[in-house]
Amino acid sequence: MNGTGWDDVPADWFRAHLDWLHARYDVVDLPDVISPTTGKGVALTFDDGLRSFHHTVLPILREYDAPATVYLIGEAVLDPKGEYMPVESDYMTRDQLTEIVDDPLVTVGNHTRSHPKLSELDRDAIESEITEGKEIIEEELGVDVDRFCYPFNDYDATAVDVARRHHATAVTSGGEQRLITSETDPHRIPRTRGEKPPTEVRWLVPDLPTRLVGGYRRLFG
Ligand SMILES: [Zn+2]
Repeated sequence: MNGTGWDDVPADWFRAHLDWLHARYDVVDLPDVISPTTGKGVALTFDDGLRSFHHTVLPILREYDAPATVYLIGEAVLDPKGEYMPVESDYMTRDQLTEIVDDPLVTVGNHTRSHPKLSELDRDAIESEITEGKEIIEEELGVDVDRFCYPFNDYDATAVDVARRHHATAVTSGGEQRLITSETDPHRIPRTRGEKPPTEVRWLVPDLPTRLVGGYRRLFG
């Protein structure tokens, strides 16, 4: 299968990415990539909680003993088949979510209640989307959630403020700003998109003594 989009990354691409990263970086958990004590680290993040994370990504993470963060949508945790969902309904089932929560390599984070563009909402709606998403994941899966991801990588000052009050970290996309430095706001952590072919990811990920976060939404086997 040829992967051409954010949703469409073949397993062999991801394996090649991870193989290349593993040889050059410490593949670390998200808090360690923003820690000033971390040297040359990379963290892996996956948005939306799609089933491909469970069946394709997780076995490869286990091969490399590589930690990852998965950002879940509250409504999709409650109902993985919900037809009202704004993005395609191919979400992890409750059994799959239970398995990833129990895996020490995986940490789940909050991706809002219903995956809106936060910059289009008023403050009350932003507050509800962020806090209710967090509450649903915590209550349904029995975990503490302190990592946030902006849907569509979209945010404004209010969204950053609300995310900051309820979470230790928040990730977005970085555009050209992909590297994490001492100046990086922990609630606007930039990411490099992972849907590119291995050769392009190698170009996007500079071999420098610095840190970055790779974002993946979905991988196909
Ligand atoms: Zn998303």
